[in-house]
Amino acid sequence: MLRLYDSLTQSLQPLPSSRRPLRLYVCGITPYDTTHLGHAFTYCSYDILVRFLEWQGVPVRYVQNVTDIDNDILREARARREDWRALGNRWVRRFIDDMIALNVRPPDVYPRATAAIPEIIRAVEVLLSEGHAYAREGWVYYRAQHAPFGCLSHLPPQEWLRLAAERGNDPNDPGKEAPLDWVLWQPSGQGEPAWPSPWGPGRPGWHIECSALANLHLGPCIDIHGGGTDLSFPHHEAEIAQSEAYTGCRPFARLWVHTGMVCLEGVKMSKSLGNLVMVSDLLQRYPADGVRLYLGSHHYRQGWSHDEGLLAEKARQAAAWRRAATAGAHLPASVVEDCKRRFRRALENDLDTPQAIEVLDSLAAQLLSAPHPGSNGLGAAALVRLAGILGLRLRAPEPEPRVTAGWSAHRKQFE
Ligand code: ZN
Repeated sequence: MLRLYDSLTQSLQPLPSSRRPLRLYVCGITPYDTTHLGHAFTYCSYDILVRFLEWQGVPVRYVQNVTDIDNDILREARARREDWRALGNRWVRRFIDDMIALNVRPPDVYPRATAAIPEIIRAVEVLLSEGHAYAREGWVYYRAQHAPFGCLSHLPPQEWLRLAAERGNDPNDPGKEAPLDWVLWQPSGQGEPAWPSPWGPGRPGWHIECSALANLHLGPCIDIHGGGTDLSFPHHEAEIAQSEAYTGCRPFARLWVHTGMVCLEGVKMSKSLGNLVMVSDLLQRYPADGVRLYLGSHHYRQGWSHDEGLLAEKARQAAAWRRAATAGAHLPASVVEDCKRRFRRALENDLDTPQAIEVLDSLAAQLLSAPHPGSNGLGAAALVRLAGILGLRLRAPEPEPRVTAGWSAHRKQFE
């Protein structure tokens, strides 16, 4: 049985529900710096989770949002004198192309935040009427004292203000009752896009969009909520407060899963620091299978630093697996079954991809070292199938048809 590390209880937890399909929400990109290695690591990690669940016979309904309205996008659009929507669409299309190239199974629903404005307004109205929020001169704020801050991030209160400020909070906003209160709705500035609302024309804050989109597409209670570990505070803790107050359903998410941060020379990759390693550049030099194997060789919760030497090594390993997949060597059924068992056990243990890769590497080595006339083909078929759960395409140069078709359908919203 699959067990995942839950950030809320800080323990390994079994899959939360027997209801089908399993409802998964993962926070998506803010389209202005995609796709760097950190994005790829996060979305490939959830890809492996979804593929493993599907292999285990658990259907998944997967929603990933696009934060298409945001201060960073508006600032970037102003600086480039480009329409904010055209700029966002361009970066989303680039992200989608990279996800296709990496053979990432597309989410079932891929909504942009601005497509859910009526649901967002409904949520804000409920939060106001229940006393969790207050409106001032076109702004609506959520009362941070009603939030379970620290429940996922386990950060001490003295860290909250500093980190929230780093992640978009303005503690000096004079309209606020308290510096950690967050924006649910704000009036749009000159030249910025605006939607009509009961508080005047404006635009939504960041946190509320995920609460609204999750409720709209998955219902009030979801099974697994995911995202990068830097989203746990304040974004995900704000989501818990908003969603539970809005829908009355607790818990909002039964399991909280967070992926580690990717660094370059010890510093977290970010647009503002200009230290991004872009996936499209890596894919010019390495095959997608090599990049997938490189990403999977780090456990999803582990933070790690980009290492070109390791990437080259993983590309060689992927090439060896490809040779093994066509070697046709004979392996007894018992050996193949044992490999499958160990592979499944590795992933059941908090999605231990480094261990799963070791299992497949030993299978590949046996296939390459034991050629035998009259092969039963079992070993090679198992290698192809199991590597596929890690997102690799050992016998085909192109992504799976469902990957290309699913993402291409989502892409239409961003043209
Ligand atoms: Zn989110």
